[in-house]
Amino acid sequence: MTLFERVFGGNDAVYGLTEAAVNNAIAQYGEGQAVSFPGTAYSLPCYYGVTGVKVETLGQLKEALGVVKGLMTRNNRLNDAFMSGVATALCAEFIEVLKYIGNDAPYEAPCYGHLPDAVVRSLGVPLVTGDIPGVPVILGTAPTADEAVALVKSYQSQGMLVTLVGGIIDQLQEKEYKTGDNVRVIPLGKDVTSVIHVVSVAVRAALIFGNIQPGDAAGLMKYTMERVPAFVNAFAPLDDVVVACGAGAIALGFPVITNEQENIFRVPKSLIVQPDVEKFNATSLEARDIKIKITNIDIPVSFASAFEGEIIRRPDMQVEVDGSRVDCFELVHTKEAAEIEDHKITVIGPEIDEIPVGSKISMSYTVDVAGKAMQPDFESVMERKFHSYLNCIEGVMHTGQRDMIRIRISKADFEAGFKFRHIGEVLYAKIKSEFEAVVDKCQVTIVVDAEKNKELRAAANAVFNKRDDRLKSMTDESVPVYYTCIMCQAFSPSHVCIVTPERLGLCGAVSWLDAKATNELDPTGPCQVVPKEHCIDEHLGRYEDVDAAVNKYSHGALEHVTLYSLFQDPMTSCGCFECICGVEPVSMGVVITCREHAGSTPLGMTFSEMASMTGGGVQTPGFMGHGKHFIASHKFIAAEGGPGRIVWMPKMLKDQMRDRLDKTAKEMYDVDNFTDMIADETICTDDPEQLLNYLSEVGHPVLSMEPFDM
Ligand code: SF4
Ligand code: ZN
Repeated sequence: MTLFERVFGGNDAVYGLTEAAVNNAIAQYGEGQAVSFPGTAYSLPCYYGVTGVKVETLGQLKEALGVVKGLMTRNNRLNDAFMSGVATALCAEFIEVLKYIGNDAPYEAPCYGHLPDAVVRSLGVPLVTGDIPGVPVILGTAPTADEAVALVKSYQSQGMLVTLVGGIIDQLQEKEYKTGDNVRVIPLGKDVTSVIHVVSVAVRAALIFGNIQPGDAAGLMKYTMERVPAFVNAFAPLDDVVVACGAGAIALGFPVITNEQENIFRVPKSLIVQPDVEKFNATSLEARDIKIKITNIDIPVSFASAFEGEIIRRPDMQVEVDGSRVDCFELVHTKEAAEIEDHKITVIGPEIDEIPVGSKISMSYTVDVAGKAMQPDFESVMERKFHSYLNCIEGVMHTGQRDMIRIRISKADFEAGFKFRHIGEVLYAKIKSEFEAVVDKCQVTIVVDAEKNKELRAAANAVFNKRDDRLKSMTDESVPVYYTCIMCQAFSPSHVCIVTPERLGLCGAVSWLDAKATNELDPTGPCQVVPKEHCIDEHLGRYEDVDAAVNKYSHGALEHVTLYSLFQDPMTSCGCFECICGVEPVSMGVVITCREHAGSTPLGMTFSEMASMTGGGVQTPGFMGHGKHFIASHKFIAAEGGPGRIVWMPKMLKDQMRDRLDKTAKEMYDVDNFTDMIADETICTDDPEQLLNYLSEVGHPVLSMEPFDM
């Protein structure tokens, strides 16, 4: 049988199953039954992306099936094979969505099934920075469970986001291998149709970040091919359905690597036979053109961003550094080059093997750096990275910062020979590689001694206080320049963030200091200086220089952007924003919600739905993505009256922002406990009248503001 016949055969088989399943569902629930995946604004994202039609009921799903049938032409063989692949994928999406009728969670642990929009958005930054260099989709059952583990681990240790479909999920369970989104190994489901859940992520990336218009199938496929670094590893034996799905993957630009050798033929760069599963990793990287940046770190356990979210539970813990009980801190300190011996790692006090298991200990680590281009302003930028560096060590968990850190080192690491000095090795290697443009010499001193740390901590706190004073004095007015960030252009080709001291990047990860450091480290990189010499309107935050910068870096897509307005040329959004605000017309206020909040808002929309109103680098007056910390800024929609316009936020976000927001509101409006005046889901969810009643009851400042000038 030829490959084409296998694709067509697989497609026909899936189509038949889908038709039967849809008819069955209609018989059971009726044509009016609503269908959608949960947590998405795109209903059936793949079908919507390809055709531009939003399917909302079973009746419409049946019509859509007719459209899919139309894709299943059998004339021009190569193109037809691709279209059959796409048709197969769409059928898979139909079969999967039926599982969600009357059941928001049809998948059981460890499988995930559908991944909500919030997950897609959270992947934006790690994908653009290359922190997640690729997305392997592993399908089927490996020759042995050991080979399954080895393959998954090989990708994981490169930081990849591994998705699994089929028998390999059981193989990992059999080996008690940890899976979950926190370790970047996501079992999607055991049926082959569950592969659509990763395709759905790729399609939504195009809609959310790429501003690809639904229905622009060609644009969609070009986007996924060029910008989504996914690829497929499919284990033999491949049945025709898998072959048909593979054709769909290839149509999206995702190469397929398989160890099947019979009845298959190779398509260069797209369908690759690699009989040796051990070589899947290398072959896949080459096919998808993924380069892994390696930092060699001399430690006895793995180091990869895939371990960043790993949790170490108490019974698995060898020792714990606990900054809430004993004196602990982490600090970067700039010194003269002569004072530093490069790569010197010193441990003062006992090593881990001299401490009883289960101890809570006092620890501090100070990283001394020197370099001609080093500036004390970069100390905090480096220090904030420690959290990620230490978490990337397999078997180590780090939380907190400054003098409120907590670190757990696992028993498994202890048994592998992990020592305190390895913390120093990690900090040294990462600082030297990531900050090589400013750090010429680096040494690390680790102190494991409660008495000494008490004294050292006091000195560290003096440094932290001084830094905070400097940060406080840094306002948009007090600095000479702003910065662009165009990191997200990898996914949102026309998006530009303008980063100022009082307005951080909308992802929440890039402050003005970060942007400044990035510019220093990589002068031709994503963060470029924006002068601020020609202010047109201070109130709106309109500058000739800002307009010129957005025009240049959006390649002409944008002409005007203001820094402080929600209505007049607001800043664009890429898609990875932490929060989104939108106008609430009844109270003339704004509603803010965040990725973590799944519920509705008084706009009658969830985060995903509000988020779908803007993105892809376009301006949408009335809706704007932003970082969490922008909420408490004096500059938050300052042109419209400032944070006093905020009328509703999820409770969790209120709690996170309370201290800073209360302080800002006191300064701006002279009101106390402003955060309590903001409604949340415990007060009202989607009723604007109820919201207004609450605002009147508490005397919310928005009530005395002018209506919006929309
Ligand atoms: Fe993307 Fe803006 Fe964050 Fe830069 S600051 S990473 S462009 S969201
Ligand atoms: Zn982004």
